[in-house]
Amino acid sequence: MEFIDLKKQYEHLKLDIHHRINTVLEHGQYILGPEVKELEEKLASYVGVKHCITVANGTDALLIAMMALQIQPGDEIITSPFTFIANGEMITLLGAKPVFVDIDPGTYNIDVNQIEKVMTSKTKCMMPISLYGQCADMDAINIIAEKYNLPVIEDAAQSFGASYKGRKSCGLSRIGCTSFFPSKPLGCYGDGGACFTDDDELAMTLRQIRVHGQSQRYYHSLLGVNSRLDTLQAAILLAKLTVFDEEIKARKEIASFYNHLLPDYIKKINVSSNNTCVYAQYTIEVPRRNTIQAYLQKMHIPMAIHYPVPLSLQPVFKNLHYKEGDFPFAERAAKQVMSIPMHPYLTRDQQQFIVSHLLKALEFNEEQVFS
Ligand SMILES: *Cc1c(COP(=O)(O)O)cnc(C)c1O
Repeated sequence: MEFIDLKKQYEHLKLDIHHRINTVLEHGQYILGPEVKELEEKLASYVGVKHCITVANGTDALLIAMMALQIQPGDEIITSPFTFIANGEMITLLGAKPVFVDIDPGTYNIDVNQIEKVMTSKTKCMMPISLYGQCADMDAINIIAEKYNLPVIEDAAQSFGASYKGRKSCGLSRIGCTSFFPSKPLGCYGDGGACFTDDDELAMTLRQIRVHGQSQRYYHSLLGVNSRLDTLQAAILLAKLTVFDEEIKARKEIASFYNHLLPDYIKKINVSSNNTCVYAQYTIEVPRRNTIQAYLQKMHIPMAIHYPVPLSLQPVFKNLHYKEGDFPFAERAAKQVMSIPMHPYLTRDQQQFIVSHLLKALEFNEEQVFS
């Protein structure tokens, strides 16, 4: 059993993927070829925004978005500590400072009621993360943003395809950023990412930054990076996009079946009735996680922990001087969360097998697992 079974999807899409890859090999435009343009148009229309700018990965999407918004050393960016390293990492790389706000324990997304408490004259941007496939409370965040005249970057690396009050993730703020890392809801066969915006000028700047800040060939008006999506990856994404909505539907059905199989005392993601979650991960909270992890390993049932340490307690950010107890909900989640296999091709039998062993593991203590 795989945690995310990419081979099943490949078997399903094989002919189309091979055909599109061959087309690229024949025309030979490996960098910013026609497939990149076609993909950008299709993704922009999928999200319902004017512009999609594909880039080399989701981490670069965040970096380029902040560069386009002219984030400077010393600027403060409000974000969540319960996320992948990329958020804190890219903010810090620009010399700016991540300012963390605890999560809502039900959705695992930033607690919007605490944002204003950390606002200072140095606050220049908000970067909510739409974790596990559900959008952060973007309307509430945008209201605060408007009040303080701040741009918002949605990190939608896990939520591409999700909808929030009828609108799509990535189209809910000044810039939406996503990732096409293979295991994300829409993944390619390598690294990939994209920025989305409705702002024409910002779109031009984002495009420029991804090719060394050049306005025309060898004329550089901005500081940029080299961060383009490969044409081959765009071709693969075009094939996968044709089944993406079906896959989201399957993910939702699989999540409902897990919800049904798992007893009430196991905490699950709280998905608001206004939202559709794409379940980049199916994550639950369990007591005695180490014991359960050991038992599942013995049974060859893959699991993962997203994420075991909040960014506020990562050694790399020790100079921010956060300490244990600063973000109680993020810290508790880090100790208890566990993701179990989730992908659109998971069968009901596999789900039943996973849950039956999970329930067995919950009854065990440490010694029983290893005896
Ligand atoms: C995966 C991920 C990223 C980074 O994407 P890459 O394509 O791996 O660089 C950023 N933020 C979150 C929340 C992610 O899950």
